[in-house]
Amino acid sequence: MKISQLPEDIQKYIIPTPNGTMLYRCLGCNNHFGIDELLYTCPDCGTVLMLEDSSFDRYKDISGEMWRRIFDYRSMICDPPLKGIFRFYEFIAPIIPLDKIVYLGEGHTPVVKANNRLRDIVGRDFFFKDDGLNPSASFKDRGMACAMSYINYFASKNNAGNILAICASTGDTSAAAALYASYMGAFLKSAVILPQGKVTPQQLAQPLGAGAKVMEIPGVFDDCMKVVEALAENYHVALLNSKNSWRILGQESYSYEIAQAFDYEVGDKVIVLPVGNAGNITAVMSGFLKFYRAGVIKSLPKIIGVQSEHADPVYRYYLEGNPDKRVFRPVNVKASVAQAAMIGNPVSMPRVIEVANAYNSIAPEKKVFVVQVREQEIMDSMIMANRNGNVVCTQGGESMAGMKRAVELGIVKKDETGILDSTAHMLKFLSFQEKYFNDSFEPEFNVKPVQRLKNFPMLVKPSTLGKFPAPGNPLTGKEMDEFVTRMSTEIAGILDLEKR
Ligand SMILES: *Cc1c(COP(=O)(O)O)cnc(C)c1O
Ligand SMILES: [Zn+2]
Repeated sequence: MKISQLPEDIQKYIIPTPNGTMLYRCLGCNNHFGIDELLYTCPDCGTVLMLEDSSFDRYKDISGEMWRRIFDYRSMICDPPLKGIFRFYEFIAPIIPLDKIVYLGEGHTPVVKANNRLRDIVGRDFFFKDDGLNPSASFKDRGMACAMSYINYFASKNNAGNILAICASTGDTSAAAALYASYMGAFLKSAVILPQGKVTPQQLAQPLGAGAKVMEIPGVFDDCMKVVEALAENYHVALLNSKNSWRILGQESYSYEIAQAFDYEVGDKVIVLPVGNAGNITAVMSGFLKFYRAGVIKSLPKIIGVQSEHADPVYRYYLEGNPDKRVFRPVNVKASVAQAAMIGNPVSMPRVIEVANAYNSIAPEKKVFVVQVREQEIMDSMIMANRNGNVVCTQGGESMAGMKRAVELGIVKKDETGILDSTAHMLKFLSFQEKYFNDSFEPEFNVKPVQRLKNFPMLVKPSTLGKFPAPGNPLTGKEMDEFVTRMSTEIAGILDLEKR
């Protein structure tokens, strides 16, 4: 649609112009730093940073009703930079010129209502938001689109000709980083560092296919992260882990989309998501908070973070009810089917603590919870979700198991509706489905398949048939007739079909 076809009072708001005042703020010492430099941690005290728009209050001059109309009408126009997460430009990074925005089709993932069978398992109505339908098949594209757009802007402003972007990854960050870097061309190269044997073959194939330099090192993600941090500290590289706060901004789009998908009424919603490095839960809370502060939404949804018993440092932290007594302790992770969230020392922990505090202090009641689930429940949930018309990865299974746990614990009220993050595409985590169907989980996972949920392909090859077709060797005439008759009789028998 053309802008001139939209209502007149909306037209001037449709194409945004860069006008924010963004600064890094340190969550340790509260110092602010300019964005002319790529910073990951505070130069003074080493704590992680958040990006803030210090002129954010100007947005309160526009009414909530007007904002809602701006976003709804903006979704009708055909301007590529505004097609993805930057539809919510003002609330993401309102300093990036539109011609520097990199758009590869990220965002606007569908929200799909669970059928009655799944609802009965979980105990409440709920939806999956399928973030596996992003370009590299996980939510990481949201953050990467923002971080890469900023790097694109940064590079052109500084005439930087040769940037090396680097990340540690449980699989999906590297797939996203490699994809966006491959699009951006010669000035940006990417290198990814993966824990050997701890990403799935599909996840490994993605950065290889995108032409990134892929390095596997022994250890788990937390070890890779330490190495990458040392590289970022001592060499000229651009760090693309969620330590990079531009990624957090992009991932806030997940919340804005949920708000828009439910006509901006989210007070009766419960957002459930797996927690690994804790960047995503930070972003989701931060996104809803910003919309709330600007009056775009009138109330905040509940937030439920989910962790596996095999990687649960955030859950353990919140077990202590008294905030003054809470102490964060990293854990040593064990093998987890929610492998993308298998992190014992989440980089974003200081962010979670601060943002959850702010979130809980606005509402009259506690709004942020973290629940723990068993590996078995994660796998059973993933399998059941896929058997009921959804496309859900192991981490999406973790969301579903977490929703069920939250209902059991009385956290979710009768009239509340869940929105569960299926954070990646099911096909990335095929190997776990295979282990389930073949009953071949290594003992450390502690997962046993439910017998009736197993599924295998069946070879139909009647011994009474002498000849079978093969590539280059088709059957003809009577042999073909014989093949078709015998095969269809055999299959009708297997399927118990009635004769017409
Ligand atoms: C990265 C990732 C997570 C964990 O998100 P964090 O931001 O690290 O907490 C969960 N699921 C999938 C599929 C992921 O790729
Ligand atoms: Zn500091």
